[in-house]
Amino acid sequence: MDDCLFCKIAAGTIPAKEVYRDDAIVAIEDINPQAPFHVLVMPVKHFANAGVLADADEALLGRVVAAASRLGRGSDPLGYRLVVNTGAHGGQTVDHLHVHVLSGRAMQWPPG
Ligand code: 5GP
Ligand code: ZN
Repeated sequence: MDDCLFCKIAAGTIPAKEVYRDDAIVAIEDINPQAPFHVLVMPVKHFANAGVLADADEALLGRVVAAASRLGRGSDPLGYRLVVNTGAHGGQTVDHLHVHVLSGRAMQWPPG
């Protein structure tokens, strides 16, 4: 996807603070953190959202969630939150699947 911000970040053509990378996944610090620890975990390859990736490559979706879970576990012994905003009503603003990992403070419920 030529015009996708996260494709460019995953390819390294737009800089970001990487905290994890493997053959298929990259994790970066969010540019506008909503918690002391806030990273975004995404596939290097473009998939618009979680439902698209679920249909295209369920194993890769599992790897993204697993990587996010491990980053969360390592970030705060008291716990963490994974968020996957999907679509307009879900609050998604970048249409390249990413899992938010938030920690370092107590989270509220329900979400806004
Ligand atoms: P969404 O709203 O799609 O769930 O999440 C998009 C996230 O990407 C937001 O938390 C936003 O702060 C983050 N973001 C937007 N542009 C950039 C950028 O250029 N670099 C980084 N590292 N994060 C970004
Ligand atoms: Zn993309």
